[in-house]
Amino acid sequence: SIPLGYFGGIGLASRNGILVKGSNFLDSITKIDTLVTDKTGTLTKGVFNVQKVETGLDRNNFLSLTASLESYSTHPVAKAVVSYASDLPLSKPTEVEEISGHGLKGKVNDQQVLAGNLKLLKKYSVLYPSEIETIVETIVAVAVDGKYAGYITIADEVKEDSASAIAELKKMGIETIMLSGDKSAVTDKIAKQLAITQSYGDLLPEGKVEIVQDLKNKGKHIAFVGDGVNDAPVIALSDVGIAMGGLGSDAAIETADIVIQNDQPSKIVSAIKIGRITKSIVY
Ligand code: ADP
Ligand code: MG
Repeated sequence: SIPLGYFGGIGLASRNGILVKGSNFLDSITKIDTLVTDKTGTLTKGVFNVQKVETGLDRNNFLSLTASLESYSTHPVAKAVVSYASDLPLSKPTEVEEISGHGLKGKVNDQQVLAGNLKLLKKYSVLYPSEIETIVETIVAVAVDGKYAGYITIADEVKEDSASAIAELKKMGIETIMLSGDKSAVTDKIAKQLAITQSYGDLLPEGKVEIVQDLKNKGKHIAFVGDGVNDAPVIALSDVGIAMGGLGSDAAIETADIVIQNDQPSKIVSAIKIGRITKSIVY
């Protein structure tokens, strides 16, 4: 039987925009010592804007080829490129493959196009100028017919309450660790900005799983918060899986134990507080 107080706790959470899928999760969240978090769409807004376009090709042709391929994808990176090229004619891409954690490969007007991170270009043995490695922004690197063609830099902003949520968790004795598929240079910069002591970038989805499994093996009590399709396996693995419910993917929301309806990281702090209050009423 479930103690009555937990029904009150779930109701209180729900009135605060926090959907708790079972009373046991309100109890588990009070035992958390580590919050592992995704970056894009979780601590940052997940809305990228194009900053710069660098190419040796005709600029419009380069943008049109890249955006045509990206029009296939719903990834936040892809959306930024497509919206930036909204004045240009786009073609429907064919034979498209979305390669998780890398980007896209496909055909646009009989040209073979790759658009993604440097891992993608390496995977297809495309040579590129080494200076690109040092860029401290998220980039979409592009190859056309097997040859490097240029890159687009894009930027995202941290959410208003990310820093304060992390600071408050620290006061509660909870350490935050950030995991991302984005470049390490970008991940490190944002971790510093948010005063997160540990962060890992350049991760493939399975890399996120490995890190969380490792922490669990060390006896840590983990909550993981994320928004993407590729976060679902880590959400499932964690003691408490949390999803961003506003712009989050269906896979993340379905797998999660707790769903934050307005995507604010500070709601994680609220959930822990509600868990603590509920516990004090039950016992
Ligand atoms: P995360 O949500 O943690 O950033 P993802 O696995 O979704 O991780 O993406 C990792 C990286 O792969 C992105 O930062 C981006 O560089 C690249 N990427 C993924 N999908 C695309 C895409 N459609 N176009 C360009 N790059 C992409
Ligand atoms: Mg994400």
